[in-house]
Amino acid sequence: MVNCCSAPGLLPFEQAMEDMLALISPVQESEEVTIEQAQNRILAQDIVSPVNVPPHNNSAMDGYAFALSSLENSTTLTLAGRSMAGSPFSGVCQQGQCIRIMTGAKMPVGCDTVEMQENCQVDGNNIHFLEKRKLGDNVRKAGEDIQKNQTVLQKGQRLTAIDLGLLASLGVAKISVIRKLKVALISTGDELKKPGQILTEGDIFESNSYFLRGLLAKLNIEVIDFGIIEDDRNAIEKAFKKADKLADAVISSGGVSVGDADYTKEVLDELGNISFWKIAMKPGKPFAFGKLPHSVFFGLPGNPVSALVTAHQLALPALIKMQNARSYKRITVKVKTATDLKKSPGRLDFQRGILSINEQGETIVNSTGSQGSGILSSVGKANCYIVLPSCQGKVKAGETVTVELFDQYLQ
Ligand code: AMP
Ligand code: MG
Repeated sequence: MVNCCSAPGLLPFEQAMEDMLALISPVQESEEVTIEQAQNRILAQDIVSPVNVPPHNNSAMDGYAFALSSLENSTTLTLAGRSMAGSPFSGVCQQGQCIRIMTGAKMPVGCDTVEMQENCQVDGNNIHFLEKRKLGDNVRKAGEDIQKNQTVLQKGQRLTAIDLGLLASLGVAKISVIRKLKVALISTGDELKKPGQILTEGDIFESNSYFLRGLLAKLNIEVIDFGIIEDDRNAIEKAFKKADKLADAVISSGGVSVGDADYTKEVLDELGNISFWKIAMKPGKPFAFGKLPHSVFFGLPGNPVSALVTAHQLALPALIKMQNARSYKRITVKVKTATDLKKSPGRLDFQRGILSINEQGETIVNSTGSQGSGILSSVGKANCYIVLPSCQGKVKAGETVTVELFDQYLQ
């Protein structure tokens, strides 16, 4: 897919995505885990229900169960027993009789309808029914939630908290999931210091590995943090070689742009088959991707916003494919921008925006302000990207733009 609006010499974003995904092979190995351990894991099997849920017809109300035909000739029935949740009525309810029943309790044999207690008058063992009922009122049918042999969850699904409850409701205690991915994080740059360390002149605090760790945690990926690697050829080579042996994927930040003084590119070129792209996207032009001997490599730009956006837009879909998980569609909507947006044609822009509802009740988007690739605070305030296509020039307030909502990985 070639986007003719991309500036000359730059790789269209869609092309970069396609080339990258084509080189990713999903992990196949699976392991068995208990459902308590399964949140956010990727199902390696379809889940077929072994039971009906609920397993039996039961009452939706606290009240009285009876055969509707019993109320044809009389509005009073004789109380003949009780059915409680977990301790059902063991006899047969005869014509003219009713059974005291609680929510969730099994429907007694001979009963097909329930009246709630608020609509009954109790006079010893005589129960007066004050309203007319229809057959099956207030009865939950066996299998009305899930039927036996129904496929409830599918291979490749990422399991949510709700799914765990669903699995429990089927009586499923253990499931097969894809093994966890391991990702090595490497931050390169002599100027970087960890928070808590003292900055000397020209230093900055390293921030990329912190949000990357957070993003990866949301994907349930195990992180091996190599910390900050100094700009020394041997140190860089040693770190990349070790990371490649230990992890399924290696993510580095910094050192991939043209004119970088460090040895990252030199070492990577020697170790693997890495393409150093200039992608027609903003932020995030420099991005490296390819294969090391045992792992896949993503080289993010050093600027924090560029690192974040390329990690989210490019590395995440690749890691999701590697996890053998189903891809997901990000949600986009078309809304009016309340602010002018600076833009020159040539690159696909992911500007940071705040989607909100104005006083007239219209959904609108505002820019977070300065869109510099070092301004991480602009992402913190945002709840969406304003996605402006390559061909687009500047946008005036009041024009319609496409907005992509921040997904669960950015929240
Ligand atoms: P580079 O891509 O190495 O040329 O880095 C571009 C800019 O990003 C420079 O200003 C770096 O200091 C900064 N940078 C690189 N890595 C990090 C990091 N891990 N955290 C914060 N800033 C970084
Ligand atoms: Mg650098």
